[in-house]
Amino acid sequence: MSQMPIVIKSPSDMQAHANAVRQKGGRMGFVPTMGALHAGHLALVDYAREHCDNLVVSIFVNPLQFDRADDLSGYPRTWQADLDLCSAHGVDVIYYPDADAMYPAGFQTKVSVAQMTQGLCGAHRPGHFDGVTTVVLKLFNAVKPDIAVFGEKDFQQLMVIKRMARDLDLDVEVVGRPTVREADGLALSSRNVRLSPQERERALCLWRGLNRAMELAKGGEKDAAKLKTAALAEIDTVPGARLEYLEVVASESLEPVETLDRPARMAMAVWMGETRLIDNAPLD
Ligand code: AMP
Repeated sequence: MSQMPIVIKSPSDMQAHANAVRQKGGRMGFVPTMGALHAGHLALVDYAREHCDNLVVSIFVNPLQFDRADDLSGYPRTWQADLDLCSAHGVDVIYYPDADAMYPAGFQTKVSVAQMTQGLCGAHRPGHFDGVTTVVLKLFNAVKPDIAVFGEKDFQQLMVIKRMARDLDLDVEVVGRPTVREADGLALSSRNVRLSPQERERALCLWRGLNRAMELAKGGEKDAAKLKTAALAEIDTVPGARLEYLEVVASESLEPVETLDRPARMAMAVWMGETRLIDNAPLD
């Protein structure tokens, strides 16, 4: 029988809970999310469950990290389903603050990772990563996790948070886990529900492009420009797909690479109609 998670809504109550667990020697695990939970989130939850004593999932649609008002207002919110899924997956606590609890009047502090946020999504979503790092540090300070688990689906986010944790001496292990995909390869995303059936079909071009590049890299191709051209060919031909960016970057620094002479990833953002999709894959 799965047990209903406790729902905690304020940072101070969350801290009190974390202190009580830690005083007894318990290990806190944490998976931050914006809700509308799917199998990608649940893979992180299941991994974290295995590596901690007390598991917290946060559900907070963070206004600071949205660069478009319509994306924020239209973001899917599925509280009852999220609660049931957390319960079924052994989550102990859902940390569910509202925007006033997170950003009370007078709030004015921001956390910024300088270089790694300049390219890829950062170049197209002004302020997005400052919003992410600010909220994640606040969530860490409330939940006090020993381990925090993030998806490689948002690879730039994962690496930026790892950098922040190192730079600010955060006492937390930041773990990245592989992207969970639909059977046909589309990366799971809360925003996929916005795709029409036709766009859903066409959205496969991201995965086809990544696959093409991975195949070529596996076959020995080291020229990033050639890999990009091959991936682009899968996207360019699809009606309604508009490329925002397509890059080959070093996996650690996220700097663009011309030759695959160190661990690298291909990352892309593609608009399918009104929906922005991102995906990435390793090229080594
Ligand atoms: P979000 O709710 O979109 O902010 O995502 C919360 C966490 O789930 C982030 O660490 C994401 O990288 C991760 N995530 C989202 N989609 C997937 C996926 N398809 N596979 C693995 N992790 C994912």
